[in-house]
Amino acid sequence: MLVVMQTGAPKEQAKAVCDRIEELGFEAHPIYGAFKTVIGITGDTRAVDVGALESLTGVAEVIIVGKPYKLVSREFKTEDTVIRIPAPAGEVSIGGNAVAMIAGPCAVETREQIFAIAEPLAKAGVKLFRGGAFKPRTSPYSFQGLGEAGLQILKEVRERFGMAIVTEAMDQESLDLVEQYADVIQIGARNMQNYSLLKRVGHAHKPVMLKRGLSATLDEFLMAAEYIAASGNPNIMLCERGVRTFADHSRNTLDLTVVPAVKVRSHLPILVDPSHGTGKRHKVLPLSRAAVAVGADGLMIEVHHSPDHALSDGVQSILPDEYRQLVEEVRQIAAVLHRTIN
Ligand code: PEP
Ligand code: MN
Repeated sequence: MLVVMQTGAPKEQAKAVCDRIEELGFEAHPIYGAFKTVIGITGDTRAVDVGALESLTGVAEVIIVGKPYKLVSREFKTEDTVIRIPAPAGEVSIGGNAVAMIAGPCAVETREQIFAIAEPLAKAGVKLFRGGAFKPRTSPYSFQGLGEAGLQILKEVRERFGMAIVTEAMDQESLDLVEQYADVIQIGARNMQNYSLLKRVGHAHKPVMLKRGLSATLDEFLMAAEYIAASGNPNIMLCERGVRTFADHSRNTLDLTVVPAVKVRSHLPILVDPSHGTGKRHKVLPLSRAAVAVGADGLMIEVHHSPDHALSDGVQSILPDEYRQLVEEVRQIAAVLHRTIN
């Protein structure tokens, strides 16, 4: 449920409405716009007396949101959310005019491997570096990541090249660590419906990249984001990474139709991961072009200096040189849409 304040209603009136909402036992989430304030109400709002709220001073209308998510909905916030990430080399925005590029290997394997990838990527202008220290692998016998030692290596990359770090937390314990090192906390596809983890990351003071579950509908995806927002963290970026379908020519089916669908329903930025979305190196460039064309707010690309020797996801990783070429192509596509590449 949303309470829309009258245009120009003073902040004190909105504050009084928030206090009343809280007195009634619900949570109030005000968004103060330049001209209008909108207050989201969470909790079991079925018992709310709409008429009583509408009669409060300064209230223009009360909207009963048809969708099960509120805080992440476009109705709650009309303007696009822009997430500002304080990288050592300067702030990076996700969700604004610039298409954000996140690149790096699937996993942190060794210090040498990470530096062999980070150096050319930094030279190619990458500001957001990815790499997993905690890896969710299908087989328990596959490389599981270096854990905190991997986070230490990422910290060195951050210091040396000034890039912000995007890395995954798999559970509450790894989140305690990841939160200390990461600039963006990644919640992977397999954990999209791990509600206790979503609540916990909702209390983190870092932006979150939430990847779409392996077979999640858009409503389920946005409800997962709602968990994070409802726990207090509004800095959420969504990431489409392909879903499971009957198609077997591709690791996953990259659902680019979700990008414009998210834009209608939500104010959150939506990124696309064509690496996991296709699982094949040769498909990364064409699907990157398509993702930017369809309006994605960013791309996440797996890059490895020696893909054939990668400990995970080598078959979908591209070389640093290929990455540079990819950026040049998507830059031209972004320009058609009056966007730049970050
Ligand atoms: C990853 O980004 O390395 C990853 C494991 O992705 P996903 O959760 O989408 O499978
Ligand atoms: Mn991977």
